[in-house]
Formats: sequence, structure tokens, C-alpha cells
Amino acid sequence: MLLKRAEQILEKYGWDVVVLRPTQKLQCNCWKEIYREPDSGCSICYGLGWIPHLSKWKARFMPMDDSSFGSPGVYSVWYLPRDARVVTGDIIIDVEWEHGYAKDITDRYRIDASYNYKYAYNERIYIKTVCSRLKIDDYQEVNILAAIRARLPI
Ligand SMILES: [Zn+2]
Repeated sequence: MLLKRAEQILEKYGWDVVVLRPTQKLQCNCWKEIYREPDSGCSICYGLGWIPHLSKWKARFMPMDDSSFGSPGVYSVWYLPRDARVVTGDIIIDVEWEHGYAKDITDRYRIDASYNYKYAYNERIYIKTVCSRLKIDDYQEVNILAAIRARLPI
């Protein structure tokens, strides 16, 4: 019952976001040690030099009243479905979709903490994450967008 309600709320008020797990330790084979750079046209890492782990989930955004921290607009809460596999350090990427095509990246949030909201019988209902706004350098962002387009088609 509660699970169904949580799913309905996500369906109604949520939208598709991409979760990127930064896996910089998984260096791509295209990395050229001599130049210390990846192949910019690589079809495996999309020029990142490491293999991105991407997944797409319906999520709901809640701005956080963080004025008491003296930094308005920094912290926020994202609700994700219970089966979303997210960990601290993952990056939620807010994407502008156009007919299922990732047109642009509009925002990025780093997951600082995540909680499983559970109910009776220990049933997981949804995942609540507390995030802080993140800046990704433009070069990497172009590559991440290319990876999303290639790896997460609708
Ligand atoms: Zn590569």
C-alpha cells in the first residue's frame, strides 16, 4: 500500500535522471600513458579515460531549506525508487530530455548520504538522498553527455 503510494508519487512528480558512478579507477584501454590522456574519440569511455557506470531512474527533487548552513541552494534532497542502486559519491545528473534524447545536462548533484525508507516487515519503500550541488568541468561534461546518449537510449 505504502509502496504503491510512493511509486505513484514518483510517477506523478518525478522525472528521469541519470546516476553516474565515478569509476576513475577503471581506466580505459585507450589511455595513453605517454601523453597522460585518453583517446577523445573512444567509443568505450567517450573520451573520459575511465569507464562510466550509468543508470537511469525516475526521481523527485526537493530543494532543502539550508539557509541555516549559510549556503542557500547548495543542498537538496532527491527521492529515488527503492530498487535504485545508489551509493554515497554517486552523481545525480539532471538531464533535459527531448523525445527521449539527452539534449543537455542542466544540473549535477553529488550524493552525500542515502537512506532506505523502510516500513513494516522491513520492506524498502523508497530511497532518500541528501545531495550537494556539484561542478563538473566542461570538458568532462561533454564526454558524460556523449556517454548518456550512447548508453541510455530510450
Ligand atoms: Zn577509452
